[in-house]
Amino acid sequence: MFPIYLDNHATTHLDPNVLKGMLPFLKITGNASNKLHYYGKCASHAVETARCKVAALIQANPSEIIFTSGATESNNISILGSAKSNEHFGNHIITTQIEHLSILKSVLELKKQGFSVSFVKPDKYGCISVKSIYNEITKQTILISVMFANNEIGTINPISEIANLASRYNILFHTDAVQAIGLTDVSVKNNNIDLLSISGHKIYGPKGIGALFVKESIKHKLTSIMFGGNHEYNLRPGTLNVAGIVGLGIACDLVKSTSKVYMPKIKLLRDLLETTLTEELTNIHINGSIKFRLVSNLNVSFKFIDINELTLFLAKKIAFSSSSACCSDYTEPSHVIKAINNVYDDFIYSSFRFGIGKFNTKKEIILAAKIIISSVKKLLNRSVYINKYKYLNIL
Ligand code: PMP
Repeated sequence: MFPIYLDNHATTHLDPNVLKGMLPFLKITGNASNKLHYYGKCASHAVETARCKVAALIQANPSEIIFTSGATESNNISILGSAKSNEHFGNHIITTQIEHLSILKSVLELKKQGFSVSFVKPDKYGCISVKSIYNEITKQTILISVMFANNEIGTINPISEIANLASRYNILFHTDAVQAIGLTDVSVKNNNIDLLSISGHKIYGPKGIGALFVKESIKHKLTSIMFGGNHEYNLRPGTLNVAGIVGLGIACDLVKSTSKVYMPKIKLLRDLLETTLTEELTNIHINGSIKFRLVSNLNVSFKFIDINELTLFLAKKIAFSSSSACCSDYTEPSHVIKAINNVYDDFIYSSFRFGIGKFNTKKEIILAAKIIISSVKKLLNRSVYINKYKYLNIL
């Protein structure tokens, strides 16, 4: 039996309809930039159809979507490309302590180049308040980047309000919407979001493909960070990944047509897991906000339980993670959990992220809860035993 997959925040399984739509383009495809012959024309048509689908999902114009290799690249282009293009206006960037590494490492790179960066701390529920962003704005601020929803604790931020604040001060606003797409309403219509990152593999699409929304009116404020051909409005050179783009388009289309159906189902399953665990385990603590949280997310700490021990204990039965998949080989506690807790708090060393997806079933959740409860109880007994003897100086 395969382990129960509860790591849908790390990545999702490919939707069979996405695979079906991609297959012809994996077999035969021309270069979408060469529209002189049949093969190139077909590829170009498929790319433009997908562009319309991605745009429709977030209520953008197709010309405001550029295809990238994923959200890591979309985030890098947003941060480095807008800093490079606007450095004559100022050298200050505002972001948060709980962003994905693709944002944090991009701004750290800018810091090395002489930019100054404010890392806003979230409240204890993981929310970034408008006021906390406002407090950091200076005359030098050229860019604010705040994630739509956090990938570890699922907290949803007041993005429209922060975007309005940025616009009032004529500051570019970027949001990493990777985890929010398909799980909450994300739209760029009638608001002040300038740049928004999307990833295919988080919405049952293929890996290695993503998109960046670039508001028409700010295109001139963004510079390419790579050098090559004139693809994607000169913002992202390189031959287009036609099959991947087709897959992303279908994935966006499916989100648009089916998320209203699968979101309540996901929420029911997440709530079932949460209530079963909290009713049975006394050492459990829910990380993040109960109110402003993605329907798919359950991030908990099991006090006195070591992250690595429980992960190893469960690995054959349940697939989940302790933090972002991009940091999962680190032994350090998650930077997100650290940011919302007191550093001396035991909870930061025992956090676990369960991400429910549209392919999960009630049967799986009931079984997963049973396995987690019995494993935590076993480890807890052992840990209490060890701690007791440590305390008595016997060990
Ligand atoms: N941002 C967030 C919030 C993410 O969770 C991830 C993936 N872990 C990324 C960006 C990077 O996305 P990709 O894998 O498409 O590069």
